[in-house]
Amino acid sequence: MKANDKINVTKTFFPPLEEYQKQLERVWKNEWLTNRGELLKELEEKLKLYLKVPNIIVMNNGTVPIQIALKLLANQGEVITTPFSYVATSASIVWENCTPVFVDIHPEYLTIDETKIEAAITEKTTCILATHVFGNPCNIEAIEAIAQKHQLKVIYDAAHCFGVMYKDQSVFNYGDVSTCSFHATKLFHTGEGGAVFCKDEELQHKMFYSHNFGHKGPLDFYGLGINGKISELQAAMGLCILPYMNQIIHARKRTIDCYNNQLNFKNLQALKIREETNWNYSYYPVIFENEEKLLQLQKKMNDKNIFPRRYFYPSLNTINYLNKAEMPISESVAKRILCLPLSHCMEDLQTQIIVQTINE
Ligand SMILES: *Cc1c(COP(=O)(O)O)cnc(C)c1O
Repeated sequence: MKANDKINVTKTFFPPLEEYQKQLERVWKNEWLTNRGELLKELEEKLKLYLKVPNIIVMNNGTVPIQIALKLLANQGEVITTPFSYVATSASIVWENCTPVFVDIHPEYLTIDETKIEAAITEKTTCILATHVFGNPCNIEAIEAIAQKHQLKVIYDAAHCFGVMYKDQSVFNYGDVSTCSFHATKLFHTGEGGAVFCKDEELQHKMFYSHNFGHKGPLDFYGLGINGKISELQAAMGLCILPYMNQIIHARKRTIDCYNNQLNFKNLQALKIREETNWNYSYYPVIFENEEKLLQLQKKMNDKNIFPRRYFYPSLNTINYLNKAEMPISESVAKRILCLPLSHCMEDLQTQIIVQTINE
């Protein structure tokens, strides 16, 4: 790759094709393409070890597990949620006939502002659905205390959190349910894919049958279900990529160290990572003083063939089918935040060009 190549906000990791072919040979030999085959089961076992989690169900994307969790826990009530996330978070609430109730975010951590949650609770509130934005954990202890006091369920959209540790354990271990995305643009991917994590065995069992049409054997049903299954072709991709994860994360850390050391933060705000977090280097957002400066810089970068992305924009409370409550901090941050290019294969020269363009 050369300095004048197009640089996108991220670049999907492709394992060596021979390694993928090797996994596919197993699929051909088994003549088994989906419905929880050998490769998927192996991937789940390896992910459990890698992520240090007791349970995992790998699914077909990162949205269906949120929907299933809401179906099982939110009971069509009011769901307290963050306006600063990907649209899948809010859309899932509406899709499950629940009512999203937005609570504004913390201006530095960018996660839901736990001090504002209690004021939003009503007798219809059943659940809190919060996002660990850019792999940065919410204030988990505060949210857990509020949930216990008001008997609410907690679901974490942990789509960005592959490998994140919080207080010496996987961030996926917190909340009643955590979900992850294995989409091609995420840190670890299976093309399309995702997963759900929950410690409670009964809930785990419900999540499991819900992702497989509710089946109890071929002829009987535990309850309502949907198709959340992933195929062996996607599991094969996961098996090929997992051994490269430490390498991928290491390479991204190098780029982020360059950004951290060389960017001029006088007029620029970086993401504040929560204390006691072992972060995964999944995104590199910077926040400008105002939207005008962001747009100017975006244009300057695009002219140099560099394509950062406005992520997350817009603030979800401003989307037409969602409620229009004002969320001043989220709206302000959404207008001013830009994710800089970050991948496993950024070259120093490219990082330097990006740093110079911003610092100018
Ligand atoms: C990517 C993402 C999702 C959705 O995951 P898919 O695998 O694309 O369905 C949900 N929430 C957040 C915060 C995401 O970034």
